[in-house]
Amino acid sequence: MSAKSNARPPRLLVLGTGGTIAGSTASATGGSYAAGGLSLEVTLSDLAGLDLAAELIAKPVAQIGSQDMGWEVWDALHKEVRMAQDDPEIAGIIVTHGTDTAEETAYLLDLTLAAGKPIVLVGAMRPAGAVGADGMRNFANAVHVASHPDANGRGPLLVMGDTVFAAKDVRKAATSNIDAFKGYPRGPIARVTPSSLDWFGGATRIGEAARYAWPEALPRVAILTAGAGMDAEPVRALLNIGCKGIVLAGLGQGNAPGSVLNALNQAVENGVPVVRSSRVDEGLVDRNVEVDDNAYGFVAARALGPAKARILLMVLIANGVTDLNEIQSAFDRG
Ligand code: GLU
Repeated sequence: MSAKSNARPPRLLVLGTGGTIAGSTASATGGSYAAGGLSLEVTLSDLAGLDLAAELIAKPVAQIGSQDMGWEVWDALHKEVRMAQDDPEIAGIIVTHGTDTAEETAYLLDLTLAAGKPIVLVGAMRPAGAVGADGMRNFANAVHVASHPDANGRGPLLVMGDTVFAAKDVRKAATSNIDAFKGYPRGPIARVTPSSLDWFGGATRIGEAARYAWPEALPRVAILTAGAGMDAEPVRALLNIGCKGIVLAGLGQGNAPGSVLNALNQAVENGVPVVRSSRVDEGLVDRNVEVDDNAYGFVAARALGPAKARILLMVLIANGVTDLNEIQSAFDRG
């Protein structure tokens, strides 16, 4: 018998949060279904015939559609992942997650956890009973990635559609295709199937400590989407409800009508940081291109889209980072 066949398969912790990968549908061809309708136990029971080369330890954390993801589940998830990171028996961690906000959870974990053993988020675009369901293939791929030594030191990853993305790049870019995710601006970092895994580059964060402390709570930070003909009232409304930070999902290079920029400048003057991102997917938002950030006191989101810019700004504020130059440095790093 070979040494390989004697080796114990890697033990992976599977933390379930719900989403379409745990979605129940009444019809294999109908369009409607309930995300998070199935328990983690039922979701994983479909794996029995897949002959996966890993021992899976299942632990449900939540059973929700990820549109309802927020502080309570994040807090519970973070604690579970931390414990698993410290447990030498656990080789890697898989988090099943709805696709709507998977990028936000992945990035939040990326900012607040050491880049140690693999943490792989996985979801599905089609519920389990639907014709052409993608959940089990995505899960088999996630097992492959989470048990692979070269997944160490990369921070949280998202595995969908035979593709591996880094947390800081990944974005949902389609509402219903099974290859719904893209990596902005760096693209995917690997291709994966249940039997192959090809990394496009080496891990760059081996041994990296957590960048920010896990907070007691996250502050209210809102995303304001700019549109032609809008006025400044929404900015005032956000300040009136006590927003501690504002992310502008701006036009083009993070732009907005002059009256909106002036109102946002007032927010900055009142101690509420404003980050300019773009409602456009591709390209960076750089400082002082068309909007004079130096004069307005704004921060440019650089490579981060609005959803992830909001996560970073919440984490920074919660960690007491309020100096605008420091905030800009954090966004420069992404
Ligand atoms: N809105 C649901 C969620 O994000 C379904 C989308 C999905 O998982 O693909 O959980």
